[in-house]
Amino acid sequence: MESDLWETVGMVKHALKRELVDLSYVHGIPAFGRCGKCGRPFETPSDAMANPKKATEDFHAAFAAHKCDQDASQAAARIVREATEGR
Ligand SMILES: [Zn+2]
Repeated sequence: MESDLWETVGMVKHALKRELVDLSYVHGIPAFGRCGKCGRPFETPSDAMANPKKATEDFHAAFAAHKCDQDASQAAARIVREATEGR
C-alpha cells in the first residue's frame, strides 16, 4: 500500500501547486493568466501595455501577492481524507 500513499502525496502536491496557467501574451507581455491552484484569473489592462516592463512586473507581482481561495486547499484536504479513510 506504500505506493498508493506516494501517489496520494503526489496528487496533493499537484493540487497545491501554484503557478500561472493558461498564459497568453500580447507583444511579449503576459496579458492573461490563471492561477493553477485556485483558478483566479489575472489580466493586464490594455492601457498598462504601454509600459511592457512594468506591465510584466505588475502581472507577476499580482500573482505573487494573491491569496488562493479556500477551495483548492479544501480539495487537497479532501483528497488526503478520502485516501486515508478506512485504514
Ligand atoms: Zn491562487
